[in-house]
Amino acid sequence: MGAASYPFPCRNRIALSATIEKLELPEPDWRALLRDAVRDPEELARLLELPAGALGANDPGADRFPLLVPRGFVARMRKGDLQDPLLRQVLPTSLEAAIVPGFGPDPVGEQALAHAGSLGKYSGRALLITTGACPVHCRYCFRREFPYAEQTAARANWEPALTAIAAMPDVREVILSGGDPLSLDNERLGRLVAGIAALPTVRTLRLHTRFPVVLPERVDRGLVDLLASTRLETVVVVHANHPAEIDDTVAAAAARLKPVTNALLNQSVLLAGVNDDVETLRLLGERLLGCGIVPYYLHLLDRVAGAAHFEVAEHEAVALVEALRRRVPGYLVPKLVRERAGELSKTSVA
Ligand code: SF4
Repeated sequence: MGAASYPFPCRNRIALSATIEKLELPEPDWRALLRDAVRDPEELARLLELPAGALGANDPGADRFPLLVPRGFVARMRKGDLQDPLLRQVLPTSLEAAIVPGFGPDPVGEQALAHAGSLGKYSGRALLITTGACPVHCRYCFRREFPYAEQTAARANWEPALTAIAAMPDVREVILSGGDPLSLDNERLGRLVAGIAALPTVRTLRLHTRFPVVLPERVDRGLVDLLASTRLETVVVVHANHPAEIDDTVAAAAARLKPVTNALLNQSVLLAGVNDDVETLRLLGERLLGCGIVPYYLHLLDRVAGAAHFEVAEHEAVALVEALRRRVPGYLVPKLVRERAGELSKTSVA
């Protein structure tokens, strides 16, 4: 996918960002940036210098799961290129209407969470669905059909979920998922983290978030202070799929997160037409490493309805990872995994 044509983020810009912080210039307000995200395919077409109508404003997928993409992410897309790998991740298309056997609304069996106060329990870990909101709508997302309106944990200020975790002394780690848990503002997130930190048996807080990649301004001083001040060990798992997603703003956000996290990891989804070639995965791993982020997981697509056109066959994925292993050191080879409904952890594929 032409990965080599994207410039590497410039370390001098990271230094500039640090200088700005020292000067205490006002931070951009991430909430205002999110409110200003692009929601109209016609506007996206104009910004990308594509012909009017090229982005299918009337595609059926747009109704149920509308376009949402921050302007900073749009700025990383190639102009005039309908096949741009970042654009493909966010653009509703008529392909989403295809009914494909094996693809359904709940591919990993998570909708039961919506009826259980948003709390899932795995071996030693509890997963909390904190919010349905996201900074971007990824067309391949397995939660695109998740009935967030039914989930109750946030509405009840997470009290039932925290009470339930308190009754599970073997839970050592609480995983905040969504949606995207960094959609909560620092005050609400701080209350939730304090509630988790008050549970004496919980040692680790894990956050799964796409914000540092698609809206890196979210990693503001308030968030950094919050992570720095909790007694919990923190693991932040970001989500980048293509090297062009990682520009100097993402590198700067990672530089702010590194000192306040115990581990900074990345998970990607293997997506046809986006990152299903060795060179793209190689460059993605190198760019993540340049930001101090470990390329940890490469997920096979969850078979959610509307996303079949992104699927890479398992045998092709295995061959891809084997080819990558021959090209790069082992620490740049992510684990190839699949989620299976009802299983307690991800299943390793290669
Ligand atoms: S949950 Fe994550 S992958 Fe899914 S739409 Fe939201 S940001 Fe994208």
